[in-house]
Amino acid sequence: MDRPEEVLENAGLGQDYLGQPKTQVLPGFTCDICCEDEPGLETYAMKCGHRYCVDCYRQYLAQKIKDEGEAGRIQCPKDGCNRIVDSKSLDLLVAVDLKYRYVIFDWNPNTTD
Ligand SMILES: [Zn+2]
Ligand SMILES: [Zn+2]
Repeated sequence: MDRPEEVLENAGLGQDYLGQPKTQVLPGFTCDICCEDEPGLETYAMKCGHRYCVDCYRQYLAQKIKDEGEAGRIQCPKDGCNRIVDSKSLDLLVAVDLKYRYVIFDWNPNTTD
């Protein structure tokens, strides 16, 4: 319990972002995974700064969720990076049906209005 803020952050409750995470289009970016470098490519990076295109991120996360059945411990796609993919990033990148299937978030479907 020496790093309580990290626990909170991993649970998606920390102050990981000042605002909502979002994807970015960066001129001159080349994705390390698929080597795509087309202009207008949407990219995403967590606080660790390892940036990949959104497609690769999505595929990576979907694969992890399907293989391992949980999304609470997925690490950054970068080899050797221990950064856990936080719930806001997952929210942004993972398709809703996948999230629903594995009920991985503190996500309440009872919002009927
Ligand atoms: Zn890519
Ligand atoms: Zn990383």
